[in-house]
Amino acid sequence: MAIAITNPTTGEVVETFEPHDEAEVERRIAAAEGAFEALKGTTFAQRAEWMRKAADLLEADVEQLARNITIEMGRPIKQARAEVLKCAKGARFYADNAEAFLAPEQLDDPSKVGASAAGTRWAPIGIVLAVMPWNYPLWQVLRFAAPALMAGNVGLLKHASNVPASALYLDTLFERAGFPAGSFHTLLIPASGVERVLRDSRIKAATLTGSEPAGRSLGSIAGSEVKHVVLELGGSDPFIVMPSADLDKASTVAVTARNQNNGQSCIAAKRFIVHADVYDEFLRLFSEKVAALKVGDPLDESVDVGPVATKSGRDELVEQIKDAVDKGAEVVTGGGVPDLPGWFVEPTVLAGVTPEMRLFAEEAFGPVATVYRVESREEAAAIANGTTFGLSSAIWSTDEAEQDWFVERLDAGAVFVNGMTISFPELPFGGIKDSGVGRELAAAGIREFMNLKTVWRG
Ligand code: NAP
Repeated sequence: MAIAITNPTTGEVVETFEPHDEAEVERRIAAAEGAFEALKGTTFAQRAEWMRKAADLLEADVEQLARNITIEMGRPIKQARAEVLKCAKGARFYADNAEAFLAPEQLDDPSKVGASAAGTRWAPIGIVLAVMPWNYPLWQVLRFAAPALMAGNVGLLKHASNVPASALYLDTLFERAGFPAGSFHTLLIPASGVERVLRDSRIKAATLTGSEPAGRSLGSIAGSEVKHVVLELGGSDPFIVMPSADLDKASTVAVTARNQNNGQSCIAAKRFIVHADVYDEFLRLFSEKVAALKVGDPLDESVDVGPVATKSGRDELVEQIKDAVDKGAEVVTGGGVPDLPGWFVEPTVLAGVTPEMRLFAEEAFGPVATVYRVESREEAAAIANGTTFGLSSAIWSTDEAEQDWFVERLDAGAVFVNGMTISFPELPFGGIKDSGVGRELAAAGIREFMNLKTVWRG
């Protein structure tokens, strides 16, 4: 894919960028190595001061950054602003907590291992390559960069080819905030350039957020080099509604959970699994609220749903809808392509989806919801767990025993009870099965790219 800004609202190419050549990539890897040495001499307090300055810069630049995001990938402007501010919050969270998360630990009774003292300490490992997606062009990167830099690691970013404005902002952010030159740089390279960088012995680990094929490819290269990876891949999260749920609230939250970010969130609720006792009422409320969403230019403050970010993404979604409808699914609302320039899809609700339809098993990366009718919680859990994904999940019930029943049985990296899945700096984030390996955020996230060093003293 060419490195370019193409506005999905109009389909027009705004700006193209020359990829970095080999010499420039080499210069940036060498600078990162130098920065790692420089960071070794810094304290948590010093890095926290720089990280807080990065948060201040993000806040000061919020309008420009939000506009970049909306033009690059079509996110409604209000949501884009919220993304920028969330990045500032995430940066401050790690500025405040990194030292405690990485505190050394000592055995209470070292004599058990024949030592006068024994325990562990966390040591940074060096350069981590971050391959990132376009759907949250700043937040996906920040949630890697903030813990990495606070830990004393350095980062090289290969961002998605359609968000170069965000990538180039991030290229200078941390240096502007005071971090040593080279601590965090962007490599403007295509996906085909990742292998060469990853095999470089100076690169110690990698993280990729994106599609399953990209994750498998990066993971296998890293495996052959014996390098640690974190993979945050796709999802098709279930949103289960049981009879005791507050249907009005559940249906309102369901609309946001499916359609936020124009439906292009890995943790979006994608499959709505509803008990037969409340199915008709939930479907009516949900589809009425979906139909009321305002679709249009994402720079318009009143718009709820903008375009799908890429033409190929839009075409794929249209194919998935067509496949389901051809095989007998019912279009409850939407289902078409609005008469607008750019890559829009109507917010859609489909019922009667069956296993032979692509949408039963595939991720729908856009504003398309599928609704399933179930007779029991066992059936609900079976459908919820019946895909290869396992990112997050949501269960709506006011019965505590039933909530616990689902929390135990849902095969996912998270369960949200009476709410929608959201990423918080305070809570670990990540999936199981084909949704990925490893965790981001919270203490777990900062510890991923560290050497947990055992120290024994005789
Ligand atoms: P993508 O095509 O996999 O791209 C993600 C990144 O990987 C881009 O930087 C891309 O570069 C690069 N890439 C693609 N193929 C590669 C390969 N073979 N080797 C190395 N790098 C490669 O995914 P996307 O379409 O941008 O993002 C949508 C997917 O990401 C969805 O499945 C979504 O669920 C998932 N996602 C997951 C999470 C999570 O936390 N679990 C969060 C957000 C999104 P180019 O742009 O140059 O191709």
